[in-house]
Amino acid sequence: MKGVKVMKVYADNAATTKMSKTAIDAMVACMNENFGNPSSLYSIGQRAKEALDDARARAAKCLGADSGEILFTGGGSEADNQALLTAAKLGAAQGKKHMISTKFEHHAILHTLAKLEKEGFEVKLLDVHENGLVRPDEVAAALRPDTALVSVMYANNELGTVQPISEIGRICREKGVLFHTDAVQAVGHVKIDVKAQNIDMLSLAGHKFHGPKGVGLLYARKGIRLTNLIEGGAQEGGKRAGTENVQGIVAMVAALEEAVANIDAYTARVTPLRDRLIAGLEQIPHSILNGDREHRLPATVNFCFEGIEGESLLLMLDDKGISASSGSACTSGSLDPSHVLLAIGRPHDVAHGSLRLSLGDDITEEQVDYLIKSVKEVVEYLRGMSPLWRDMCAGKKPFILK
Ligand SMILES: *Cc1c(COP(=O)(O)O)cnc(C)c1O
Repeated sequence: MKGVKVMKVYADNAATTKMSKTAIDAMVACMNENFGNPSSLYSIGQRAKEALDDARARAAKCLGADSGEILFTGGGSEADNQALLTAAKLGAAQGKKHMISTKFEHHAILHTLAKLEKEGFEVKLLDVHENGLVRPDEVAAALRPDTALVSVMYANNELGTVQPISEIGRICREKGVLFHTDAVQAVGHVKIDVKAQNIDMLSLAGHKFHGPKGVGLLYARKGIRLTNLIEGGAQEGGKRAGTENVQGIVAMVAALEEAVANIDAYTARVTPLRDRLIAGLEQIPHSILNGDREHRLPATVNFCFEGIEGESLLLMLDDKGISASSGSACTSGSLDPSHVLLAIGRPHDVAHGSLRLSLGDDITEEQVDYLIKSVKEVVEYLRGMSPLWRDMCAGKKPFILK
């Protein structure tokens, strides 16, 4: 493959995004001009506190929440942990020790639930259907009088499928059960209104919408008494000790506002390019799109290609200037196939040949065509080297994918 033009395409925005100019400018300005400690009483400190209060009010507005309902955290995982531990404590105080979630949550949810299980909670993980969607009627059927929490992610980070959050919210509110959603992949990509959607708690992370890493927030509806994970000073209403990451918070909120304001334009521009990518990759024989075609984030695509290893595919795509993922960044490097692909019923062999492409908001048609061409070439090349593939072609082993 010598002499072939290499184009740079960063197609792993579900793993993290590049900070926007708006976010970087906001961060630099804050560091230069507003370095005070928000807990200090003199004016330099109070200016930092004002920046923090202002960021809180603006973040709340982006979600349809009130200022007092926003707790800044050190990222999405922390917000997820705090939401679940809060629900566990509130539930236990009322003798409720049953929790409902799904099999394809992020590990920040699944590992926390596993910990709670060891502490005596009963955790029901709902099945996810082949289309990568959770069914609201199955959430309703799983509810019990002792259910302390339902936690269903807004959009799945590997598949990109967007869940029926409003329906699930309505069901939970009717039954008076707390409802949390890990919206880390969804915020800034789809429209969210926590009040209209009956969401009690919601987690987000700045770095998934062109803000900085290591900063996120937890929305918790008024009246929900949060459990703190970090003891110390009285910052964040006593619910998260430690001097606030003022510049990170300010930059995250700048990115959030920008993303939320641009959702319509972003969706209109990127969705057709996503669909062009899907159509192109579907031309590869023995491949399958993972997750529903319609209920999908504007920029995330996930495929399985039979007869190849996702890791080899990624390395060869990297040589072609393409950054992609086989699923979540947390599981890459391990030999187990993705728990998400297994949850939607992909057999182990097929799940190993997965590829997630998550496009940026600046993606071009030329780049999409380069992605399609490159993936086709690499899949063909890898299949050519695979004894398993040769057996399948010779009819000695059946194909699983059509
Ligand atoms: C990225 C991600 C997280 C973790 O967020 P961090 O800020 O990296 O801790 C949690 N849930 C989902 C769905 C994610 O995509």
